[in-house]
Amino acid sequence: MDHKSAAELFSSFVDGEIADAAKDDLSRHLAVCIQCRTDLEEFRRAVGGLGSLKHAAPESFLPQIQKQIFLRSRGRFFAQRWRLFGRVPFEWVSLAMIIAMLVYYILHLRGAPTGVRPAP
Ligand SMILES: [Zn+2]
Repeated sequence: MDHKSAAELFSSFVDGEIADAAKDDLSRHLAVCIQCRTDLEEFRRAVGGLGSLKHAAPESFLPQIQKQIFLRSRGRFFAQRWRLFGRVPFEWVSLAMIIAMLVYYILHLRGAPTGVRPAP
């Protein structure tokens, strides 16, 4: 068995899913090959490191990320919305302002005399 075919068996060897014949071949090679023993140890460390990544994030992880984005974007993202007006689109606010100005014009300015009189 050469180094390459030994390295291909590392994953199934570590997982314990290797066939007995292949396991014997690999064990014989590992007994005489310091390079593959070292590689196998590195492989085990890498797999163990990946296994420790499976821990769930703490409860406060997402809120803290959102708070950081809120602060760094100067309030542009993840801002606390007002309960009543939070989801009113800007177009509706603009339309309401136009209607309010129209009502003001009709009620206060339209009937007021301007001081300009038609020529006799
Ligand atoms: Zn080897």
